Amino acid sequence: MAFQHNYVNLVTERSQAHTRLIRDYDNLTNKDFDFIIVGSGIGGGILADDLANRLGHSHRILLLETGSFIYPTHVYNFSKIPNSATAQHFGVDNFKDWPDSSFYIGGKPQMAFGGRSIFWSGLIPQASDWELEFFPDAVRNDLKAGLLKQAGSKMNESVSLGAMARTLVAHFKSTNLADDFDIRETPRAVHQPYLNADGTLCDRLFHEPTGVFNTAELLINQVGLTSEVNDLDGKGLFIKLNTFVEGVHDVPFDWHEVKTTNTITGEQISFYAPKVIIAAGALESPKLINRSSVYGNLSDAVKRNVGFGLTDHPVSGESQAYVSSLGAIPISRKDHAKIIFYSKGTLDAQGNIKFPFNIEMNVNHEYWHLRDNDPSSEEIPDDTAKARVDIKFSFANCIDDENGIFSHANDHYVPEIRFKRFSDLDNLLNSRFPAMAGWNKSQQEFFDLLNTTRNRVFNQFNNVEWITGEYGGDGGKQWPFGWGTVHHACGTLRMPWKRNRDAVNFENTSVVNENLEVRNALGLYVCDMSVMPISTAANPVRTLAALALRLSRHLG
Ligand SMILES: Cc1cc2nc3c(=O)[nH]c(=O)nc-3n(C[C@H](O)[C@H](O)[C@H](O)COP(=O)(O)OP(=O)(O)OC[C@H]3O[C@@H](n4cnc5c(N)ncnc54)[C@H](O)[C@@H]3O)c2cc1C
Repeated sequence: MAFQHNYVNLVTERSQAHTRLIRDYDNLTNKDFDFIIVGSGIGGGILADDLANRLGHSHRILLLETGSFIYPTHVYNFSKIPNSATAQHFGVDNFKDWPDSSFYIGGKPQMAFGGRSIFWSGLIPQASDWELEFFPDAVRNDLKAGLLKQAGSKMNESVSLGAMARTLVAHFKSTNLADDFDIRETPRAVHQPYLNADGTLCDRLFHEPTGVFNTAELLINQVGLTSEVNDLDGKGLFIKLNTFVEGVHDVPFDWHEVKTTNTITGEQISFYAPKVIIAAGALESPKLINRSSVYGNLSDAVKRNVGFGLTDHPVSGESQAYVSSLGAIPISRKDHAKIIFYSKGTLDAQGNIKFPFNIEMNVNHEYWHLRDNDPSSEEIPDDTAKARVDIKFSFANCIDDENGIFSHANDHYVPEIRFKRFSDLDNLLNSRFPAMAGWNKSQQEFFDLLNTTRNRVFNQFNNVEWITGEYGGDGGKQWPFGWGTVHHACGTLRMPWKRNRDAVNFENTSVVNENLEVRNALGLYVCDMSVMPISTAANPVRTLAALALRLSRHLG
C-alpha cells in the first residue's frame, strides 16, 4: 500500500528556502547510484557527508529524506525556547501507545531534514569501557582506537565550557568521588572558534561560529548552493527531500530497488544501487525492513528481533539545591558549569558494578539554553538570588526484549508500540539492573545508594538548601524515575549483543552483523540508533557518529 500521508503532524511542504538551498535530485533518466542512504539524521547525515568527502569524486551517492526542509539550522541557533519543547511541537505520530496504561512512550520522533539533530541538546559524552563491553570486539576496538575521538571532532566537540567549569572539575577530582568517577566538563557539540585547544581565548577570530552541530547544515555545506550542482549524471552527493521510502527490494545482479513516494505529489519513483543504507531512525527503520523483501529471507529467530528490543536509558528525577560555594570556591547565580561524572565501572566485593550510571550536573541550569535573543524576557521560576545546582543519574540499560513495535501489513504505517515506563522500579530492580550491573538490590538498598551518592556530591558544597527531597522519601512516594522517552530510543535492529554483563558470548540472532549489514541481505545496511547493542548511560549520539564513520570506511 502506498504512503498516503498517514503520519499526523508530519510537515509536507517544499518551501522556497528549500528549493533555493537544495536542488532535489530530479534527473529521472539516471536512477542508478553507488550508494543510497535513507534518512538524514545523525546516522544518515554523517555517513553521507563522510562518503561524499572520501568517495564523492568517484561515486554517485543519493540521500533520500521523507521530511521537509523545516529549519536549515539547529533550533537553539534561532530561539531560546527549550529544544525539547520545540521537538515535541514537531513530534510526528508514527505509532500508537500500547493500550495498557502501564506502557507509555514519551516524546514522538521528529521527521525533518536533519532528523532529530536539529532539536537535540548537543551533549556528546563518551561511552565508558564498562559500557563498550556490550559491543562486539571488532566494533569496540575500532571505537576505542580513535573513532569516538573522530566523532567528537566531526561534531565540533567543545574545548571548554568556561573557567568556573574547569575550577569545579579540578575540585571534584581532588575528592574521593574521583575514586569511582572520571569527572570532566560535559562535552558538547558546539563550535567554539574563539578558543584555543587549552581553553584560552584566541587573539584573532578565523572562523564564524555555527552554533550547535546538526546534519541539516552539514549536508547543506557538503552539497553547496543549488547553482553549484551542474551534472546530475555525474559523481558526488545528491539529495532528495519529501521522499518517503516505501521498501527496499532485491533486483538481479545483487542490486536493490528503493521504492519511494513523494509526500507532496504522491508520485512514485524507484532508484537503484548495489548498496543501500537504511538510516530512518530506531522507530522507522524496523518498519521499513518489515516492508522490504529482505524480511522474508530472515530466519524466524532474527525476525523476532526486528522492531523489538526497543530500549532507552533510565534517568532519575533531578536532585536540586541552592548552594553558596564549593570548598573555598564561591559560586553565584552568575556562574555556570555543566559537569559529567563518568562511572569508572568499579566493582564491589561480589564483582558487581557499584555505579552503573553517570551523574550529570548543572550549575545554574538556565545558562544552558544557548541563545538568548531577548534577555529582558528572562523568566526563572526559582530564587535567582542564589546559585542552584542540579544533578541527575543516567543509567545504562541492556536491550529490553519486552519492548517493541508491533508493525504489520495493515497498520497504515502507525503500529502500536510497547515501551515500559521507567517508573516501574520493580522491573528495573528485578530485571534491568541485575542484567546491566549484576545487582540484586532491594528498593531500600537502591534508594540508599542514590541518596548516599547524592550526598557525597552535595557534601562538597557549603550552605546546601535542598529544593527536592530524598529519593524514595515521603514513604516511598518520592519516586526516582519519571521519564520514559523516545529521545534515545535504540536497539530495534540490533548488532550482535550480550543479554547481560556475565554473558561470555555475543548472541548471533542479531538483525545486522558487526559491519551493520542486514543478515541474508548482501549490500543492505543500517546506520542509526536501531543498531545499538545497549542503551549506554552516556547520551548515544557520539557512539552513533563513530559507527557511521566506521561504516563509511567499510563501504569503500
Ligand atoms: C529533545 C531531544 C534532545 C536530545 N538530546 C540529546 C543529547 O544531548 N545527546 C545525545 O546523544 N542524544 C540526544 N538526543 C537523542 C538524539 O537526538 C537521537 O538519538 C539521534 O539524533 C537519532 O539519530 P538517528 O540518525 O538514529 O535518527 P533520526 O534523527 O530520527 O533520523 C532519521 C531520519 O530518517 C527519516 N526517515 C524516516 N523514515 C523514512 C523513510 N521511510 N524514508 C525516508 N526517510 C525517512 C526521518 O525523517 C529522519 O530525518 C535528543 C533527542 C531529543 C528529541
